[in-house]
Amino acid sequence: MSIPRPPLAAGKTVLPLVLANADSARFECTYGRGCEGNCCSNSTPPVDEDKLALIRTILPQVLTKMRPGARELVEREGFIDQGEIHDGKPAIRVEADWCVFFNKGCVLHAFGANEGDTAKYKPVACYLFPIDHDSQGRWYVRQHGVDDEQWTELPCLAGTPDMPLAVTTLGFEMEMAARQDAKLAALEDRGSVEREK
Ligand code: SF4
Repeated sequence: MSIPRPPLAAGKTVLPLVLANADSARFECTYGRGCEGNCCSNSTPPVDEDKLALIRTILPQVLTKMRPGARELVEREGFIDQGEIHDGKPAIRVEADWCVFFNKGCVLHAFGANEGDTAKYKPVACYLFPIDHDSQGRWYVRQHGVDDEQWTELPCLAGTPDMPLAVTTLGFEMEMAARQDAKLAALEDRGSVEREK
């Protein structure tokens, strides 16, 4: 989340993902160009079990890069907020109004980048943002006034006419969401083959 992404490859006309509001959604990440990383403020993203396990493998090193207050809290109580469940999954905690992993940027993003994969340790919801599933289960771009968007204080979700069309700025996120669909489909196929055995 919060890191500018390369646009959709030049000349690419077929979107990698079907987005419910592809024709109208507008979005541009301005992290480092006026935005301080606001999508990580009071953000408690849900985390899958496999991502939880991955984060734990690097937690000792991650702790050394965290804000002092966040580090103290995580060392004392862990990085999962026991009082929050999002989308049926455990959620990352907040300290002093910021996700514990935020420290002038996402620490998990930085660790992944060092290994050549910025998404490796970040929760899925973070690296797909602002792409998400709407209330009908379709991929869409979060926008103020669409699907009862609650994050109205985030200017990047305003979708004003001066912003570029989201399909031109969210190439990475669309590719990653499409990969997630492919992964789920493969798992379902495997499940049905095993059920038929
Ligand atoms: S995990 Fe990283 S990208 Fe996600 S909210 Fe926390 S600091 Fe931001």
